[in-house]
Amino acid sequence: MHESFPTIERDIHKEIAEKIATAKEHPLDIEKEADIIQRYADLVHESYISDIETPELRELEARIKLAMAQVATISEFKILMESAGVFTKTVLDTLAHENAHANIADQHPDTHLTHGYGLVYLKDGEDISVQPVHISEKVKGSNTIEFFDHAIAVLEAPALYENKLSDDDTREIEVLKEMKESVIASK
Ligand SMILES: [Zn+2]
Repeated sequence: MHESFPTIERDIHKEIAEKIATAKEHPLDIEKEADIIQRYADLVHESYISDIETPELRELEARIKLAMAQVATISEFKILMESAGVFTKTVLDTLAHENAHANIADQHPDTHLTHGYGLVYLKDGEDISVQPVHISEKVKGSNTIEFFDHAIAVLEAPALYENKLSDDDTREIEVLKEMKESVIASK
């Protein structure tokens, strides 16, 4: 006879459904909040070099987190995506993609602090969509050049598993490569 754990199972699904409901109430408006999204990206990039999280960065991060349903593990992420049910790509393909990023980030704990996975709810006019993300940040005080090398490897990771890089991945790789070069040039 199988032992079953219906209570635990139900709680995880309930917990994730609540996270989705909260994020859906606060989607990032990609038109009206375009400045916030861009400013946040700029400040995150600056913090890679300064190692300083400004109050403005924390404030913008809090806004973005409101729009995000966040979970710790890949199995929770699968449930999260299935529950969200808004994918054009298959859930498995997206799981493989984000898991590839996570695998490489986990190999670099000296520079990368990982925080699981998320779905960011986006609003475009009347349309709601989601952006799947693997969440990591630079370990404060870690070597900046080493961080850039590892961050680029994290972004390129899906290609190792024959999974396509997203347009955002490709753009971010270019930004980080340029930043790395400018740090080297300034030394
Ligand atoms: Zn990606």
